[in-house]
Amino acid sequence: MNIYKNIRVIFIGAPGTGKGTQSELLTKKYRVPKISVGELLRKLVNNNISNDINSGELISDSIVCNIVKIRIYKRDCNNGFILDGFPRNINQAQYLTINNIKINFVFNIKLSYKIIIKRLLGRRIHNLSGRIYHIKYNPPLVSDLDNITGEKLSSRKDDNVDIIKHRLKVHEKQIGDIVNYYKQEVKLGNILLYREIDGSKPINLVHAEIINSINHFS
Ligand code: AMP
Repeated sequence: MNIYKNIRVIFIGAPGTGKGTQSELLTKKYRVPKISVGELLRKLVNNNISNDINSGELISDSIVCNIVKIRIYKRDCNNGFILDGFPRNINQAQYLTINNIKINFVFNIKLSYKIIIKRLLGRRIHNLSGRIYHIKYNPPLVSDLDNITGEKLSSRKDDNVDIIKHRLKVHEKQIGDIVNYYKQEVKLGNILLYREIDGSKPINLVHAEIINSINHFS
């Protein structure tokens, strides 16, 4: 198999485990698009959706699944894609299968809630591009400014302690079913790999572990 034609990756870790950061690195390495569902949703001008995002609730499957399908069917995804933040429940996982959207690698990045909260409170994003920074662990070259455009970075409204705790609860309710689903998919030969990754390591080491896992199948 030529993996470079089949980089179809999903990340299913909790919020703040580094899915977005690792997706960005994979995108650069394999030159396939990163599809961040949260980012796509934040760009929609819709008050109901913004309110749900800001309060840490999931957006309805019908909306999210449609957005993902439309994005994946674009031509630039022909050679693969990195899906960040989807699926977030079993329905969404099954949606990919039912729609024949093949996935090869599933990474579940794991991290203690204590570290997650610390990371999310220090997270800064560049709204337009979705580039992600952390004030301590992954700081921009110039404090509070995006490395590429020099534009101001901001904190996400849902990155405050109470909302983070709620988002983690929402995640906890769904993740067991998703993990079981993908373990079963590996057994059935429908995906190549389900792997749990220790997200407490530095960004470059987590990246290296992901690349090694993918290379194993080349
Ligand atoms: P993220 O940027 O991945 O942390 O997602 C931010 C927010 O977008 C989530 O808390 C949800 O409100 C919404 N969202 C992102 N992905 C999904 C999804 N797959 N299903 C439902 N809602 C989602």
